[in-house]
Amino acid sequence: MRKLLLLSALLAFLAVQAQNNQIDKRFDDFKVQLLDACWKRYPEYAIYFGYGKYYDKPAIPNEQYFKGNLTFFRQWIDSLHKVPFQKLSANNQVSYRIIENQLRLFEWQIGTLKIHQWNPASYNIGNQCYLLYTQNYAPLEKKLETLSAFLQFAGQYYKAALNTLDRPTKEHTLAAISQNEGALTVFGKALTDSINDSHLSPVQKDTLQRRIDGAQTAIKEYIAALKSMASDSNYSFRSFRIGADLFNQKFQREIVTDYTAKEIFDKAIVAKNEYHQDMFKLANQLWPKYGNGLVKPTDSLLLIKAVIDKISLHHVAQANVFDTLNSQLKAMKRFIVQKDLFDFDTLAPIIVRKKPAFSSSVAMASADFPSPYLKSTAAYYNIADISAMPPAKAESMLRENNNYMLQILTIHEGVPGHCLQGVYNTKSPDIIKSVFRNGPMAEGWAVYSERMMLENGWGNDSPEMQLMYDKWRLRVACNVIVDYGLHCLNYSKDDVIKLLRNEAFQEEAELEEKYQRATLSEVQLCYYFTGATEILTLREDYKKKMGAKYRLKDFHERFLSYGTAPVKFIRERMLSKAL
Ligand code: ZN
Ligand code: ZN
Repeated sequence: MRKLLLLSALLAFLAVQAQNNQIDKRFDDFKVQLLDACWKRYPEYAIYFGYGKYYDKPAIPNEQYFKGNLTFFRQWIDSLHKVPFQKLSANNQVSYRIIENQLRLFEWQIGTLKIHQWNPASYNIGNQCYLLYTQNYAPLEKKLETLSAFLQFAGQYYKAALNTLDRPTKEHTLAAISQNEGALTVFGKALTDSINDSHLSPVQKDTLQRRIDGAQTAIKEYIAALKSMASDSNYSFRSFRIGADLFNQKFQREIVTDYTAKEIFDKAIVAKNEYHQDMFKLANQLWPKYGNGLVKPTDSLLLIKAVIDKISLHHVAQANVFDTLNSQLKAMKRFIVQKDLFDFDTLAPIIVRKKPAFSSSVAMASADFPSPYLKSTAAYYNIADISAMPPAKAESMLRENNNYMLQILTIHEGVPGHCLQGVYNTKSPDIIKSVFRNGPMAEGWAVYSERMMLENGWGNDSPEMQLMYDKWRLRVACNVIVDYGLHCLNYSKDDVIKLLRNEAFQEEAELEEKYQRATLSEVQLCYYFTGATEILTLREDYKKKMGAKYRLKDFHERFLSYGTAPVKFIRERMLSKAL
């Protein structure tokens, strides 16, 4: 009898399992349908993600289009809510939450933030056109035909864009002018060469050329219209400051956090003061070694600056950047295996490649991932090729990226930062987490990695490394202060420049760039600090939960196994009783 009872309990359990598997399967179909519908409505994302479909016509950004998008997202939110959340697998529950959050974010961006009305830089066909003929989705002839079809709509596209704009900001208008001027270069020699090399018929080539000319005219007319606004002293631009209310809404929706923006701002101020105290101690300790023949400044910030300047003279030669970063990446891979920080699959490809440095950029290295639909597992570690840079400019870049900063940069961009996290993300088979990638989780992870590596002995506790790390994290905290300060507290440009120069010890070239970036974006500069704060808090709470069974490696493996999902959702899974 007992056996029979057990058996029927088992059968009942299996029946529930089978039903749940069915529900998961149906949810997987739902995701495919949802994404297909999204890319159809947003061809620019289809192209960007390498979807391979809906490439032959841009979305025409008129009033009707944005109204339709609102309805579209509301309907999909309703359909999502018909899915029985509780019966989904743990991983699908995370995906469900990501989808729900993302659809609501899109709806909010159009319905409340209305960025399409005030950011002229959201209109630009350059990148789409570039991908249409360079992406690997079809033979060259087919790609050029697609481009040709697409370009027919360029005039209509830019006309609708101008109509939709309603008192844009001056900052975004100027950015749109220079970015659309950049778009014109997409139709240059490389494209002409492709057309000449192709087997298109003379008629097809002719048609394509006419449409390219038409698109260039449309772009130039758009630029001219924006320029006339920008030079009209009576034009009433709106302020780039979105204000505390919208900022906080954007903050909570985009980052997916229970913190308010103000709470994170306050934490950033506290952090900045702590770093300053730590730096003052280190600078005093290092003074005998670096202060040779100098008068020791009495002001603490000036003392810190003097030591930073001296340490910054220790940097690699212009010609050795690539080899140094390449070997650092290898050393970090060895280090994380030796210290048992990850179950790192050393076969996972992290490809190191040279990238030409853009003239205005100060990034020495960056991480890059293949489009989600290309299903590649590779991550790219890009190293700037500065060999041809004028020596004076290179020198300033090298001082900023001195021997110590360069190591932190490799941790952040490479291992165990962005590249390693990207490798784990591709192991999570759910494409939702790649297309709706949570930026604050990715940036938070990279920032968390810096600290974690130093905690585990990278840099051998050298005071130089510690001081430079403090400088690095000052930038992360000041990103929050600048972003929140400009948008919510009415900081002036001068306030920002002074803060970054005097209290974050940033180089002159960085100051202007950071200010520009902060006026052209909202909340993005808060990703790093907020994400890292949430990950560190989660690590503490997870440690308490696991007690004696806690292992750092185990924390990392579990954390990364959910893919690039908001930390809040990962937290719910990792701290749930079921685990
Ligand atoms: Zn030098
Ligand atoms: Zn980053």
